[in-house]
Amino acid sequence: MRTRILFPSLLLMLVVSVSRIGFAQPAASSSIPREIPAFDVNAIDKSIDPCVDFYQYACGTWMKNNPVPPDKSRWGRFDELADHNLYILRDILTEAQTSGKRSATETMVGAYYASCMDESTIEKKGTTPLGPELERINGIKTREDFIREIAYLHRNASPALFAFYPQPDMHDSTETVANLDQGGITLPDRDYYIKDDAKSVETRQKYLEHVQKMFELSGDKPEVAAVEAKTVLTVETGLAQAAMDRTARRDPKARDHKMTVAEIAAAAPNFDLTLYFADNGSPKFTSLNVGNPDFFKQVNDQLTTMPLEDWKTYLRWRTINDYAPGLTKAFVEEDFLFNGKYMSGQQEMEPRWKRCVKSTDRSLGMALGKLYVDRTFGAEGKERTLKMVQAIETAMRQDVGNLTWMSDTTKKKAYEKLDAIVNNIGYPDQWRDYSTVIIKSDDYAGNVERAGAFEVQRQFKKIDKPTDRKDWSMTPPTVNAYYRPSMNDINFPAGILQPPFYGKQMDDAVNFGGVGVVIGHELTHGFDDQGRKYDAEGNLHDWWTADDAKEFEQRATCTANEYSSFVSVKDDKGEVKLNGRLTLGENTADNGGLKLAYMALTSIIGNTPVKPIDGYTPQQRFFLSYGQIWCQNVTDQEARKRVLTDPHSPGRWRVNGAVQNSAAFQQAFGCKAGQPMVSENACRVW
Ligand SMILES: [Zn+2]
Repeated sequence: MRTRILFPSLLLMLVVSVSRIGFAQPAASSSIPREIPAFDVNAIDKSIDPCVDFYQYACGTWMKNNPVPPDKSRWGRFDELADHNLYILRDILTEAQTSGKRSATETMVGAYYASCMDESTIEKKGTTPLGPELERINGIKTREDFIREIAYLHRNASPALFAFYPQPDMHDSTETVANLDQGGITLPDRDYYIKDDAKSVETRQKYLEHVQKMFELSGDKPEVAAVEAKTVLTVETGLAQAAMDRTARRDPKARDHKMTVAEIAAAAPNFDLTLYFADNGSPKFTSLNVGNPDFFKQVNDQLTTMPLEDWKTYLRWRTINDYAPGLTKAFVEEDFLFNGKYMSGQQEMEPRWKRCVKSTDRSLGMALGKLYVDRTFGAEGKERTLKMVQAIETAMRQDVGNLTWMSDTTKKKAYEKLDAIVNNIGYPDQWRDYSTVIIKSDDYAGNVERAGAFEVQRQFKKIDKPTDRKDWSMTPPTVNAYYRPSMNDINFPAGILQPPFYGKQMDDAVNFGGVGVVIGHELTHGFDDQGRKYDAEGNLHDWWTADDAKEFEQRATCTANEYSSFVSVKDDKGEVKLNGRLTLGENTADNGGLKLAYMALTSIIGNTPVKPIDGYTPQQRFFLSYGQIWCQNVTDQEARKRVLTDPHSPGRWRVNGAVQNSAAFQQAFGCKAGQPMVSENACRVW
């Protein structure tokens, strides 16, 4: 069964990571690779003028020497760290399986990992784990049965047709409410079903072939499977057409629809939502938020115009697709050929142990994370990060104070919001209790399913309760960070608080250019085009004067237009530019984060010249450190997918886009007007 992020509640992250599960060759045993240097003078390409192409200057030699490995679709210094963590986690999981005195946590994660690594048992079971699931679907006789099956699938962490999960009330964040939303498609974005360019048409053809192959693997004749694949595409295209696009959904107001259960049930009667809510394992509730009511109204007709048999075919596909990574080699390989190779340009599967470590992290991440924190992250890690966070919060206060376009009325509110931000560093205060999850060392598919069902139950329990602000949305080993608008908190898992982001031995300039910018980035999310719509308490509430809002929009539009002109990929299928509106929040956060971290650094080291290190001044080291975080190579396929789905810009533009707007950068490297890294029309929001 596919492990996945079950609840897409709004998180503004630093990156969207590449992470897939599939299977392959047995692990080649190798030890933990070297620590990644926080500042790598050997990454620099000195033949390039930093004022012409700073990214190429900071990363050129690294990029030349580090092509995308065959089992990856993107490879950067960021990914190197994530990969490094996998080795540490593997050691923990391997030791957890050895005999001797082991804690309950170790026994559990060890057994889960062992079940994933045990390919021969998985082969022996064949399609057995899938059998009862497909039989249930085949037994559906009425639309009521169909809705009950949707409820069953949702209880078991298998999302089909639409999405249901808890989220803080958008107008009273102290309470968590039920949230119903669009969903049910398999390809990564609705555009894949709708757009008519050559590449989209090709993708749909490849998808049809893939779905057919998977039906065949689960026992259907080729001619039957071919018809089934067409049916799946038709059903999913209907769901995609009813869905709001990714950019429109960035506006929280577009997702803000408080309704009673009776209202939404009446608006889309064919969904039998009253029956669904009674059956899906959630507590009883009378009102909820509906992210996209039009989706339910539009699909409502399809539920009766399309034959029930077609809907059953769709559910069988969703189930097969869900289970595929936990089944035999044949399923895993077909899953990889489409999702990894065709969609992302990955040439080979990752070694199985890496996929099993990632699977353990997704299913039991707060248990594995505790063992990871015990081994890698001391109390001093929390302390030193907190000091940097405070320095950057002070910088933001100064930055807001210095703004000439914002009135004192709005500034006062901005300070309030800034003061209310909660900092979460390293790991949660309380560890999750998984003691009710049954984990067996010879039942991988079952383990994934039970861990998934446990997480669904844990989430559903939050409905109509006070919001749990202590619950983390990422596991501690994760190399990422996030801001939650409804919680007004910034969160830094232990996994990111190490080189290349932070080096204990490194100078302040390097650390502020690394993790300092990450902190500034997350902080800025509270004040980007989405975040600014929430107040200090995390409620959707407009605290801006009309004039200040207009000034903000003008500046944000400058950034959106600037990034829309950047080319992400140019290949035989043509040139694709970034979507400046989809990436607006992240680009604002990158520009703001860079500025705030630089201000904080200056307040600590002052402007007095100090001896250069490696031939670079502290100011230059700061910008090089930032640039080198994003050194990366990426396949054309992955780059194309990300333009449609990833709100973050690719590494090149995270760096060049931000520095060409930065006067401090231009000063540090002596860049002159007219050079490419000096934007003629520099955009600045914060
Ligand atoms: Zn972000």
